[in-house]
Amino acid sequence: MRIPLIAGNWKMNKSIEDARSFMQAVSDRLPEPAQIETAIAAPAILLETMLEMNSANHLRIGAENCYYEDSGAFTGETSPLALSEMGIPYVIVGHSERRSYFNETDDIINRKVHAVYRNHMTPILCCDETMGRLEAGEKIHWVVSQVTGALKDISDDLARQLVIAYEPSWAIGSGKSASADQAEEGCYLIRQTIADIYGDDVANQMRVLYGGSVNPDNISEIMAKPNIDGVLAGGASLDAKTFLQLVNYQ
Ligand code: PGA
Repeated sequence: MRIPLIAGNWKMNKSIEDARSFMQAVSDRLPEPAQIETAIAAPAILLETMLEMNSANHLRIGAENCYYEDSGAFTGETSPLALSEMGIPYVIVGHSERRSYFNETDDIINRKVHAVYRNHMTPILCCDETMGRLEAGEKIHWVVSQVTGALKDISDDLARQLVIAYEPSWAIGSGKSASADQAEEGCYLIRQTIADIYGDDVANQMRVLYGGSVNPDNISEIMAKPNIDGVLAGGASLDAKTFLQLVNYQ
């Protein structure tokens, strides 16, 4: 049984004061992680405040990014070792905004996946898909190559714990979600790719999320699909009430 994961990605949208109000509103109102896991990935600068305010300890506080070295002369970067020391369980790796605005390649993303695992955290690996590639019939090749590239030299045991998010960039922040069938098709493709690399056992254990304009109105239909184990929500995770509606999708 794969435990559903309802995750938010705040991006660079909140101040420390905003993060405080959010935590005050949600931290005692989330389910036990053994039933439904909930997570918010936030900028590194907010993490300490969020961890301090995570009173019931049900919310997993994640990071949105980190560097692939643990320490060194890398001005402005976030150390995965320091995130791990803070007690951060999840790090988003390879979000489409990192790929497109910060030129992250599959090789960089692969190094980051290694860095996150080396520091005993779990990557939430994002795979995107542009409208151009979809229309050109390159969807399968593109998704498969991102998954394969990101997981180079990652062992079966580590792959089993992985979370992958299928996030078509045409659906991110656009208010136009993929249909539940399109979301399922992308998540199925990712699970098949994992099965081809690691076998069915690993593929059946790892979780695949859908992300791209998820909201309280479309989440139930998306979550009903067999290959979708959760969501990664941007805009809909910013407001405490809306995030709680996502969590209570059933
Ligand atoms: P969105 O963002 O829900 O605002 O479309 C999703 C994401 O970028 O992870």
